This record gives sequence, C-alpha cells and structure tokens, in this order.
Amino acid sequence: MGIQDEVKKRKTFAIISHPDAGKTTMTEKLLLFGNLIRSAGTVKGKKSGKFATSDWMEIEKQRGISVTSSVMNFEYMGHKVNILDTPGHEDFSEDTYRTLTAVDSVVMIIDATKGIEAQTIKLFKVCKMRGIPIFTFINKLDREGREPLDLLDQIEEVLEIETYPMNYPVGMGKRFLGIYDRYHKQFVKYNGNEDESYIPFDELDNGDYTSLTENPTYQESMGEIELLNEAGDQFSIDRVLEGEQTPVFFGSALAPFGVQTFFDTFVEMAPTPVPRRTTEEVVQPDNPDFSGFIFKIQANMNPQHRDRIAFLRVCSGKFERGMNVQLARTGKTIKLSQTQQFVASSRDTVEEAFAGDIIGIYDPGSYRIGDTLVEGKQLFEYDELPQFPPEMFQRVTAKNVMKAKQFRKGIEQLVQEGAIQLFRGYPTDSMIIGAVGQLQYEVFQYRMKNEYNVEVMLESIGERIPRWLKKDQVDPRVFDERNMLVKDREDEFLVLFKNDFALRWFIDKYPDVELIDLYEVN
Ligand code: GDP
Repeated sequence: MGIQDEVKKRKTFAIISHPDAGKTTMTEKLLLFGNLIRSAGTVKGKKSGKFATSDWMEIEKQRGISVTSSVMNFEYMGHKVNILDTPGHEDFSEDTYRTLTAVDSVVMIIDATKGIEAQTIKLFKVCKMRGIPIFTFINKLDREGREPLDLLDQIEEVLEIETYPMNYPVGMGKRFLGIYDRYHKQFVKYNGNEDESYIPFDELDNGDYTSLTENPTYQESMGEIELLNEAGDQFSIDRVLEGEQTPVFFGSALAPFGVQTFFDTFVEMAPTPVPRRTTEEVVQPDNPDFSGFIFKIQANMNPQHRDRIAFLRVCSGKFERGMNVQLARTGKTIKLSQTQQFVASSRDTVEEAFAGDIIGIYDPGSYRIGDTLVEGKQLFEYDELPQFPPEMFQRVTAKNVMKAKQFRKGIEQLVQEGAIQLFRGYPTDSMIIGAVGQLQYEVFQYRMKNEYNVEVMLESIGERIPRWLKKDQVDPRVFDERNMLVKDREDEFLVLFKNDFALRWFIDKYPDVELIDLYEVN
C-alpha cells in the first residue's frame, strides 16, 4: 500500500469527558469491537493507588493486557483506529490538554443525568480553538436523565456549537424504548440485556409495531423529533469537519446500546489525518518525507528504569525503525531504533508508521515537548504547542540549601521538558511553579528526588489568575501578595491575581493598565 492509502485508513481521536461520564466504559466497548479484549466488565478500584496512573494501567493490571496505555490502536471495518487517552481524575495535567494537539477528531461524552460538566468545558474549548471536529455521545440513557432537548440546548448555549442529533432517544431510564436513528432512517429498539434490533422507518407504521408506536413515550418523542426536523440545524459534514457543528448520538456505554451505531458512523465521518502547519509551509500527510512532533514525555517512575518515552505524532511520510531523522531544534541527526507502538495487547516494537499514528521513542533526555523530527534536507518545525493555564501555584524551595545547584538544574530541565511551568517572583526571585493538576506536583517532587537527589518543599499559594503586563506598564509598587508580580521564562512580567475579586478590584483601580491573557483556554 502506498503512503496515501495508509493515511486514508487512519482515524486518530481522543475521548474527552468529565470524570465518571463513562469514558473508560466506552473505551472498553470500542476495544471489544477491535477484538483487543474479549470481555469487558466494570473497571473496579481505579481510584486507588498513590500514583494515579491512567485508568488503563489499572485495567492492564487487572486483566493482564499490557499497555502504557496512553494510546490504543486497532483495525475496525478497514480503518486503523488510534485512540489517545486523556487522563482525568487525579491525573489530569497539561498532558491531557496536549494530547488534543495530536488528534484529528474528538469524541465528547456527556452524562445525560448531569449535563455538561467543568472538565468537559475546559477540554472542549481547546478543541474548538483548534478547529478539531467533535462528535458527541450522550451517555447513560438507561437511567433517568435530563430532557434530551435540554441537553442539546445546553451544548449549544454553553459550548457555543451547533448540534445535529444523529439519533434521538425515545424515553429513558425505565421508559427507555430505543433510539430513533435519523441518519440511518431506522429505529433501534432497546431490548434490555438482549441485542438491539433495527426497524427501518418505512416499516414502523405497517402495523407490526403498534405496541411501540402507540406508546405515549414514543409519541411524545416523535413530537420532539418533528420539532427538530422543522426548527433544528441541517446536518452538514463540512461544518462538522470545521468544528462548527457536532453530530450528537444518544445511548448507553454500559448496556451497551447505541455504541455500535455511533462508532460505525463515527469511523465513517471522522477525518483522516489533515495537513499541518509548520514554520516553513503546510505539510501534507502523504508527503514522502517522514515528519512528526513530540506532544508528551513520560518519565518512568521506577528508579531502576530512568528511561523516558517521548510520544510522537507522525504527521507525514513513512516511519521505519532505524531510520535517521533530524531534531529540528538542534539540527542534530538521531537514529530512531528504540521505538514502541502502543497496542492494547502488547507493547510492540513498531517497524513502520504513517501520519496519524503515535509512536513511542526512547528518550535519553534529548527531547522536549513540542520538538519536531524530520527526515529529508529541509528542516522545519511544527507549530509550537500552546501553554495551558495552570490552575494551582506553589512556591518551591530546596529542603537543603546546600543542594541549590542540583535544585536549579532539576527545575530547569523539568521546565524545559514541559513537566511544569516556572515563574519567578519579582523582585524576590523566589521560584513559583504552576500546574494544571495535582499529579504534576507529585511527579515533580518525585523526580526531583529521584533524578536530581533534591528534596523540595512546596508551599501552596492557591489558585491564581495569571495576566500578562506590557513592559512599560510595570510598576512594582502596586503589587503585593494578593496581586503578585512575577516573571515568566521569557522574562515577561505577569500578575498572579488571588481571585476574580482581586482581578476586578485591580481593573477598577488601574483602568489604564492593560492585562493580557496569553493562554489558549480559559
Ligand atoms: P470515566 O471516569 O469517564 O472513565 O467513567 P467510567 O467509564 O469509569 O464510568 C463511571 C461510572 O458510570 C461507572 O460506575 C460505570 O459503570 C457507569 N456507567 C458508564 N456508562 C454507563 C451507562 O451507560 N449507564 C449507566 N447506568 N452507568 C454507566
């Protein structure tokens, strides 16, 4: 197969959701479709364990299927499916956001009983900003949830995206009869624990299904569907691919019900790898020269194995094990011989890969998040990865002042690697680190001790709101502990406001000072 044919097979996506909406359950069901695991059950005990590893490591332990499982891939209906994990729960971190830079589409799972929740909003915003197509699955229809029209309305209002219900639920919870599949023009009947059955629309009224069609729940839903047909948006695949409209599917990941219909439609519609912007030009996925970028670096938490794995998203050409590539940042040539692919059944050595695939590269400490690797003469770099707003800030010091040198070195390297964000107090020069999730601090503390032999002390300064200042507008006299003046890595000044109230107070008091928000999501 040529490169172009390989690229056309690839569907690389992530599932985003708020914890407990059903991401793990859904992923398990998808792995069943891919024949990667034979039986799926409810994942137990995933919240235990000091280091909140990914849910998949937990599954790995329980089932003996091995994954570092940040990435799972399998063949399905002629497609090569790559699912990237977006860690939530306690291991929500900048990596979760960065993963979204490596996918071509996203599946958003919403719990029908809760509607849109905080973490979904944050992750959704990153997708919207980047124009990533979003497919929505409204889950847990086997329970009493919110009205379907309300849920659709909430998506449109809160997330500001058009919705197009590909199917519509008829009842829910105990009254759940099935889904009205507008796209395939069939009614999918919910039979409890038994397999779902399909009734084409033109057979619905032929008298064989009166127990269904005369059910008041059915009739009520038909009224709502009519409303949608008349007043709802038209389905437009172009708008879906531009990230302006989201196809919405209803179902239950646990039952499972509606999952197959959803996934079949998803793999048909979801985009294959698209051209990507670089410092030089736009690179086509079927360009013969290999290129890709690193979106995540995972350190081994086992002190016996200090190796790290850099996760690279292939963007063009053909990766072949042992090939020589150049690290665009330094121009250095590197031979890629120790590479891994992440399959849920094993951690295989990867021999070849194409645009859309994710490979793991052994990292002796040479890589940084955002690094571009290219084959061929022309060096270029993929667009820089955005920085995401830290949600918590801590002042960090070394327990032992004699270790100041290692302390600085460790912090510098971990910051470069993208593990944490560093700010310096002004004029005190104290070190303040920012992170998106608690796990980042735990990893930071652990790695400082194990890799640099420094015990660090962290002192929380709480959640803060960062805003940058123009150089000529910095007046150190007006800042204090509430509105803390700090510098970023590029020596730009910013203020860490204690809370919304402090921010608003400042804006009132100093209306001429321009406050700039540099982060992509907020
Ligand atoms: P995650 O945190 O998003 O990965 O969510 P999980 O997949 O672990 O699901 C959280 C809880 O919701 C678990 O107890 C699941 O069994 C349950 N759950 C997931 N999907 C469904 C569903 O469709 N219906 C019902 N009733 N429960 C579900």
